[in-house]
Amino acid sequence: MKYIGAHTSASGGLEKAIFRAVQIKATALSFFTRNQRQWISPSLTQQKIYDFKRACIEYKFTPQQILPHSSYLINLGHPIDSLLEKSRTSFINEILRCNQLGLIFLNFHPGSHLNKITEHDCLLRIAESINIALDKTKNVIAVIENTAGQGTNVGYCFEHLSEIIKHVNNKSRVGVCIDTCHLFVAGYDLRTEEDCENTFKKFNDIIGFKYLKGIHLNDSKKKINSRVDRHANLGLGEIGRLAFTWIIRNNNFHNVPIILETTDSMLWENEISWLRSQKI
Ligand SMILES: [Zn+2]
Ligand SMILES: [Zn+2]
Repeated sequence: MKYIGAHTSASGGLEKAIFRAVQIKATALSFFTRNQRQWISPSLTQQKIYDFKRACIEYKFTPQQILPHSSYLINLGHPIDSLLEKSRTSFINEILRCNQLGLIFLNFHPGSHLNKITEHDCLLRIAESINIALDKTKNVIAVIENTAGQGTNVGYCFEHLSEIIKHVNNKSRVGVCIDTCHLFVAGYDLRTEEDCENTFKKFNDIIGFKYLKGIHLNDSKKKINSRVDRHANLGLGEIGRLAFTWIIRNNNFHNVPIILETTDSMLWENEISWLRSQKI
């Protein structure tokens, strides 16, 4: 089964993210469980939790199809202890919210070293942050996203993600989400069938498909290896449509949320229907 959808807005209520997904005929979605520009948000009320769960049941969205995205403020590899602590508290708060909503994934960007510690020390801090968060929570899988490698972000190569996973104690509660735009601008080619095969063979050798919990399906406005993160609609960027067809036809991407974060949301319904038409 292929779950295909987009990152929809939860403005006006978390259940609205589900309604917006239904409108574009999505069978997967991503959304922010709280205002992504604030550190801590008010707790979810019983009513809010009920409204969200009810919408999931009504429109037949299972937790397997929903990949909530954490706040961009969080840096789980922060070099300064007091600020690292703030990020960890906020991250734990988000995991707890996901659990209250009956969700099983939380997608996040790994972190940045800010030129104050080495990349490797940053990766170790991230793994420690995940360990602390998993110890204090239940059920939810921490889903690390690969990055474009802008600025001092870590997580732009498979080795980084596998190094974090290696240091996480509870391997059953850690996973990865692969963003195709980030992959491409970080230097992994996807333009031909052979490129896709090579890139995802590397992924399987270094990380393993068993850790794959989601895909962000984006084309890229910027060139390969540019390390600049600018999403484009499918087929309107440097990657081209072939990679997306290849992913849809590949069995390794079954049963994980495949999420569009492409720039023009007016095209999402068409992109979803085009992706479905690529199945053979
Ligand atoms: Zn993404
Ligand atoms: Zn991005």
